[in-house]
Amino acid sequence: MTIETVGIVGAGQMGNGIAHVFALAGYEVLLNDINADALEKALAVIGKNLDRQVSREKISQADRDAAMARIKTTTKLIELGPTDLVIEAATERETVKQAIFEDLLPHLKPTTILTSNTSSISITRLASRTDRPEKFMGFHFMNPVPVMQLVELIRGIATDKETYETLLAVVDKLGKTAASAEDFPAFIVNRILMPMINEAVYVLYEGVGNVRSIDESLKLGANHPMGPLELADFIGLDTCLAIMNVLHDGLADTKYRPCPLLTKYVEAGWLGRKTGRGFYDYRGEVPVPTR
Ligand code: NAD
Repeated sequence: MTIETVGIVGAGQMGNGIAHVFALAGYEVLLNDINADALEKALAVIGKNLDRQVSREKISQADRDAAMARIKTTTKLIELGPTDLVIEAATERETVKQAIFEDLLPHLKPTTILTSNTSSISITRLASRTDRPEKFMGFHFMNPVPVMQLVELIRGIATDKETYETLLAVVDKLGKTAASAEDFPAFIVNRILMPMINEAVYVLYEGVGNVRSIDESLKLGANHPMGPLELADFIGLDTCLAIMNVLHDGLADTKYRPCPLLTKYVEAGWLGRKTGRGFYDYRGEVPVPTR
């Protein structure tokens, strides 16, 4: 099946990045969010990120303008019905994602492929509540989408070969690399990455290190480009907590229990960069540790 039009649900940090790379690759993009401000902000971010690519001579000004012209926005989910491929990239909560698919289903073409950018939730379970589990897949982009090379492709138990091959071709057209993961909690990348971040929060919680020493240790001692707490702020602490809960519930192993300090930050609404505060405070000139 050939994909020409793409509907993206959720215009947060992932949704805007996904819209950016699809538009640049020549797809017509319809970006949806319940929040009109999020759509406006997403267009501004995409414009700024494309400008950066122009100034670094990665793309031409004409490519930039053509990509921007391919992105339309809407607050009405049902307008995504006629698209060939839907990518759900809304908040990491199963009830939110389920409600989106339920509302969308009556308006879809029979051929539309449904995907979720979920970091951790069962693809098989999300798919089973739709009318097309064979045309449903996990389509997991990494943050920041325009920069990161990998896309995880997750087949649910019922996903058919044609859907998988169609998405492989899409990943190829985006110029990215696909990794196939089985449908178990948090797939490959986050199954490994999130327990490490959660452990870093435990190290902070138990006073073994402070924010700076933990991040410095992993950067200089393990050659990681970002420290785990800095990375957690970048991902979003609500998303990190949601993934740990999925691992804990889905694998029923206490080694995945979320650190109480991570929960505390989320309860405070200190969700990382996107809210201006997390393990670091981003409201001044330079990020300052909050503990
Ligand atoms: P975010 O908080 O930046 O954005 C979520 C957006 O979804 C918000 O703009 C919100 O208004 C919108 N939204 C909520 N309910 C909606 C609804 N019913 N209909 C339409 N829009 C709705 O979150 P994010 O970091 O972009 O994460 C989105 C998804 O991508 C999650 O499933 C997350 O697990 C996944 N993901 C995140 C990362 C990351 O590093 N942040 C990486 C890979 C995948």
